[in-house]
Amino acid sequence: MAEVLRSLSGFGGVRHSLCHVVRPQRRAQLLHLLQGEAGPLLARGFGRAYGDAAQIESGHVIDMTRLDRLLDFDAETGVLACEAGMRLAEIDRLFLPRGFCLPVVPGTGWVSIGGAIAADLHGKNHDRVGSFGDHVQWLDLLTADGNVRRLDPIATPALFAATIGGMGLTGIIVQAAVKLQADARPAIAVRERKLTDLDALLLALQAHRPIATYSVAWVDAMARGKSLGRSILEIGEPAEARSTLKAAPARRLPLKPPEFVPLKWIGKGFNAAWPARIPAAGRDRVVSRERFFYPLDAVAGWNRFYGKRGFHQFQCVLPDERAADGLRRMLELTVRSRAGCLLAVLKTLGSAGRGYLSFAMRGHTLALDIPARADAPEVLAALERITLDCGGRVYLAKDSALSPEALAAMYPELERQRIAWAEIDPQGRFQSDLSRRLQIRETAP
Ligand SMILES: Cc1cc2nc3c(=O)[nH]c(=O)nc-3n(C[C@H](O)[C@H](O)[C@H](O)COP(=O)(O)OP(=O)(O)OC[C@H]3O[C@@H](n4cnc5c(N)ncnc54)[C@H](O)[C@@H]3O)c2cc1C
Repeated sequence: MAEVLRSLSGFGGVRHSLCHVVRPQRRAQLLHLLQGEAGPLLARGFGRAYGDAAQIESGHVIDMTRLDRLLDFDAETGVLACEAGMRLAEIDRLFLPRGFCLPVVPGTGWVSIGGAIAADLHGKNHDRVGSFGDHVQWLDLLTADGNVRRLDPIATPALFAATIGGMGLTGIIVQAAVKLQADARPAIAVRERKLTDLDALLLALQAHRPIATYSVAWVDAMARGKSLGRSILEIGEPAEARSTLKAAPARRLPLKPPEFVPLKWIGKGFNAAWPARIPAAGRDRVVSRERFFYPLDAVAGWNRFYGKRGFHQFQCVLPDERAADGLRRMLELTVRSRAGCLLAVLKTLGSAGRGYLSFAMRGHTLALDIPARADAPEVLAALERITLDCGGRVYLAKDSALSPEALAAMYPELERQRIAWAEIDPQGRFQSDLSRRLQIRETAP
């Protein structure tokens, strides 16, 4: 199998590492690879983790995207078994006509089943259905000793909990079974409302939380003073498609920001023009699932918008009782520091995930793009401090800046994760730049 030396980075493009990349097509090649290789190893999906979770400097990265076969589907139970390189949007494309869909999808369709499990990702309906890992029935994990083990929550609870949200560090997920949601609808009826400030937004989110299927708020991260937290809240419900939907698929727009226009001006223009689409009383429309769930996939190469240095994405979750205070401090900080953050996304999360390192907890989750300028580390460190102060945590699938001390404080089950690692990978073969940066396997003295 061909091996290529490639510079890899996460979606934010901040850190680059030279990695030996292989792209197996068959499971047998994958098994052979593990037996033949002695150095550090890591699986990679579509590279949609923002930071350094899917790369390992000088190590072997196994691109799983060719291992993408459907293996079995039970229409009675809705359980789909497939290889780990299968793309989430592809599953919906194949199964929607049969009335099934994935219960949890992120903000892009370019995520693999392996990446979805390794990050234990959440969607816009976390209050209703939990995280991706909550719907995994079993998974086959290729471990450091070259064996494939079937993990499930009953027979192997500790290894299962260490792999769900375990960021690829217990081994390579080869295939998995996920329970699809029945009675899926092809479209989403969306109600968009403009909210004037953070208090209004939090009240509206709270009111919709027990009743809405999907909710997400797009926050103008440049608004200050009385307008701090000005936003558009989208509430979505599954719907039948209108005939016009078929004629209006998600557009793919090439994005080439003019280099001579400062980012700040582009951001101000965007944040002024974008809400203007929506009348003061709000707007109701029916859109395709693709447009509702994956709006940014329609803008080709948008992650290059921030320029060659790339950007960090900071995403935290704050417990409900500290959310108002913490979110206000975070938005004030990004405005005051002129961090160059244009837009923020706010969602609510329902309950903890199944993994020891699962990100979810009951609370509010805020995601902010921070351009990788000279002052970015300072801004990220301040955001980390507010998160810690509020008893929250940072999402590892987005992270590129967390400190090892903060990790231990934010993830109380880290020691249980370390015990599982000691059992399943005592030599520490599975590593990533993220695991090295966070000293994730090292027990505190
Ligand atoms: C535009 C955008 C929107 C997003 N929205 C959301 C969102 O709403 N909610 C959310 O939770 N996340 C979101 N994400 C993050 C994304 O869902 C996760 O980072 C996901 O893990 C990426 O999957 P991937 O297949 O690209 O994996 P990669 O980015 O390639 O890898 C991510 C991690 O998964 C591990 N991994 C990948 N495949 C395997 C495997 N087969 N076996 C073991 N480990 C594996 C890697 O080692 C790495 O640690 C978003 C990302 C983008 C770019």
